[in-house]
Amino acid sequence: MIFKDSSLLLQCPKCTVINYLDPFTFWNFKGKIKCAGCDAIWEYALVNGHRQGPPAEGKAPHDRLPGFAQTTDWKPITTPGKVAPAPQAREDFQGKPIPIAKSIRGKVVSGSPLKAEDLVGSVPKMFYTGI
Ligand SMILES: [Zn+2]
Repeated sequence: MIFKDSSLLLQCPKCTVINYLDPFTFWNFKGKIKCAGCDAIWEYALVNGHRQGPPAEGKAPHDRLPGFAQTTDWKPITTPGKVAPAPQAREDFQGKPIPIAKSIRGKVVSGSPLKAEDLVGSVPKMFYTGI
């Protein structure tokens, strides 16, 4: 099966591996992509998700890796270094909450254990004292 008319699917003309170009990274793109199957470099340009021409052979180094790749007999390629890691909305987020003690308006929030003085005039103090 040939996907030559799909913009965000770059099928390698050399090894026929289908390189999936995730829209987060490649929606507007001009540069060099490394095929996850054979490490060939392809110059490719996309504007609003539409390709601006067929892939042209390029020289290393590449600019980006595809987000995912697959052979024509549906074997996935997920090896790090062959495909890019998933894009993160916040690069500094590592799966643990970032403790905060104040909101952006400067009000105390319970993102961390509250101290006694944090409870002055607060709803938690009302529950604690009953007043
Ligand atoms: Zn290839």
